[in-house]
Amino acid sequence: MAAMWTAGTVEQLRTERSAMKGSVAFVPTMGALHRGHLALVHAARQAADHIIVSIFVNPAQFAPDEDYESYPRQIEADLAACREAAVDGVFCPPVEQMYPPNIPECTINVPSMAHVLEGEIRPTHFAGVCRVVAKLLNMVRPDVAVFGQKDYQQLKIIEAMVADLAMPVRIVGMPTCREEDGLAMSSRNAYLDTPQRQHARGLYKALLEAKRLVEEDGETDPEAVETAMEQVMMAHHVEPQYAVIRHPHTLAELDCIEPALTGGVVALIAGHLGETRLIDNMLLAEAG
Ligand code: AMP
Repeated sequence: MAAMWTAGTVEQLRTERSAMKGSVAFVPTMGALHRGHLALVHAARQAADHIIVSIFVNPAQFAPDEDYESYPRQIEADLAACREAAVDGVFCPPVEQMYPPNIPECTINVPSMAHVLEGEIRPTHFAGVCRVVAKLLNMVRPDVAVFGQKDYQQLKIIEAMVADLAMPVRIVGMPTCREEDGLAMSSRNAYLDTPQRQHARGLYKALLEAKRLVEEDGETDPEAVETAMEQVMMAHHVEPQYAVIRHPHTLAELDCIEPALTGGVVALIAGHLGETRLIDNMLLAEAG
């Protein structure tokens, strides 16, 4: 098998991409790769002949007071993990390659979904995500792009962007990979100290409580489930930022939980452990 290539410029990427025969699956990441990312790579392998991974900590999706500077960066270990996973090539551009200073900026907005939940707390976040994902898709020209349900709202927004702008790519969403105690894998888990790491399991426990209430007790009142999730988070010293039940496709609020009508519901939560902010979600009462 050919050695894995790395490309640091758009030009190098385009040259490598043009030489690839067969279908290509793309996995965009911000690096600090963990088992969750590698599960996306595995799905990519099932979906196409070749795999391209990008590693780019995207400044456009961080607000000035967020963790752009301190976000974990470990490019050599990430490249080794990609090589090990038989990735064909890695695109790891510097910021000036993605955002050349002389090009006027474009904005992509998905107004129905980008300003609630994460978008309410991080008002510029999804514009930054859509901009970088659209650019990466145009640069890589994949047949398939793989994203994690871990970032559920992001996945729904990207699906909407690709559908409405008729982008020629198939989006695949993969289930969340978890640690043994249920904590969703995240590059940001590295920020947690030992007691916080213990407490962080409260996020998953809150989602399991929502699942129990909806699927076993048949609870139909979203507020009752939301309150229960907050209580579980607080009992584990996780300070809730939101804990909500929403429509699984539109993220709209629901008056009543009626899984048969909506094809299930999604529970979405965000909370703080000290300075560290974690998010998680779970699909409940899915059909089928
Ligand atoms: P990030 O590097 O955090 O931007 O994530 C890159 C991709 O990996 C996104 O599509 C994420 O949703 C996905 N991802 C992150 N954590 C997980 C996880 N625990 N399980 C599955 N996918 C994940």
